Amino acid sequence: MNRAPIALQSRSSTFRPPTLRTLPVAVAANVVEIRARTRSTIMAVVKADGYGHGAVTVARAAVAAGAGWLGTTSVTEASALRAAGLAAPILTWLHPSGIDAEAAAADRVDVAVGSVDELGALLAQAASTVRIHLHVDTGMSRGGCPRRQWHELIALAQRGQRARRVRVVGVMGHLPLADQADPAANAPAVAGMRDAQQAIRAAGLGSPLAHLAATSGTLNDPATHFGMVRVGAGLVGIDPSGTVMMHGASRLTAPIVHTAAVEAGTPVGYDGTYVTDRATHLSVLPIGYADGIPREISPQAGVEIRGRRFPVVGRVSMDQIVIDTGAESFSAGTSATVFGPGGDAVPTIQDWARWAGTIPHTIVTGIGPRVKRSTA
Ligand SMILES: *Cc1c(COP(=O)(O)O)cnc(C)c1O
Repeated sequence: MNRAPIALQSRSSTFRPPTLRTLPVAVAANVVEIRARTRSTIMAVVKADGYGHGAVTVARAAVAAGAGWLGTTSVTEASALRAAGLAAPILTWLHPSGIDAEAAAADRVDVAVGSVDELGALLAQAASTVRIHLHVDTGMSRGGCPRRQWHELIALAQRGQRARRVRVVGVMGHLPLADQADPAANAPAVAGMRDAQQAIRAAGLGSPLAHLAATSGTLNDPATHFGMVRVGAGLVGIDPSGTVMMHGASRLTAPIVHTAAVEAGTPVGYDGTYVTDRATHLSVLPIGYADGIPREISPQAGVEIRGRRFPVVGRVSMDQIVIDTGAESFSAGTSATVFGPGGDAVPTIQDWARWAGTIPHTIVTGIGPRVKRSTA
């Protein structure tokens, strides 16, 4: 069969598909920003696949830039980091399918235990010594041992340590109000942490590594830093308190797959919610709500094409969005940037969060599986 010469191939075969590119350089720059604000050990939290940026990619970049620990929600996620060759200490704290003590011990993964029952179950199955962090509730009421049971938890940990089933190496809290960037709002949790440290010391368990702050506390309130800070959002360019400009760590691009010149008065997309008010050009991007483009966006939403911002018009479909490019007619295959680190006309994840009435975390963790992943 005759094949067309490469140069005559249809251009559609050369489109770069919708791609989420992670920028490890930005992750490293964010670790530097964090280091400038704390002397405590930095844990890089890479749960939810590194906030959608690739857990291994983010972990490697963060460790190379000075993070000393890694954090995930499950031992399974932690084991994947070990399999990728990451050697830093790892803490897991949510355990969606319970704690696999054998896997934790084998992969040298620390586990946070947040209740007497959880610790009891761990002690019942621990064959070799598991390193644990006592997770105390410091005001979140979302996991962590309630204060009235701290002494029971600590006493059980003490017995488990004597039996060499566990070793208490950490004490963990979480700040419920840190996004307010107000040290006074954090004060009760800081005091609670000190009380927990005191109770642990009084039980003869020494002074294990204490950690309370996530990104907001780390960036705004040194009193919350203790021995270690647990930073996730900050690594990928999100300051939940909105006080520090971090570096966006990903770029989402999509090729224009179809363009059309239309007359004034042309309805666009399902239900015709947008009607052109002039003769214009429309470009279709093959990325929709199944790929994480929020369906609930305001008319301000836009994308960057060749250095300019153009609005997303009409309904967001499952697989596509339409861009009104005005007098410009871009050829199929032209790349549009949906979001990126910002600058020029490129929207940021903070822009998308504002347009969708959400937080940037849901934008980056919501990018669907059809979008190709790549690392700069
Ligand atoms: C997700 C999480 C963090 C990281 O929070 P960021 O605000 O993303 O830095 C820290 N600690 C716990 C317990 C978490 O669940």
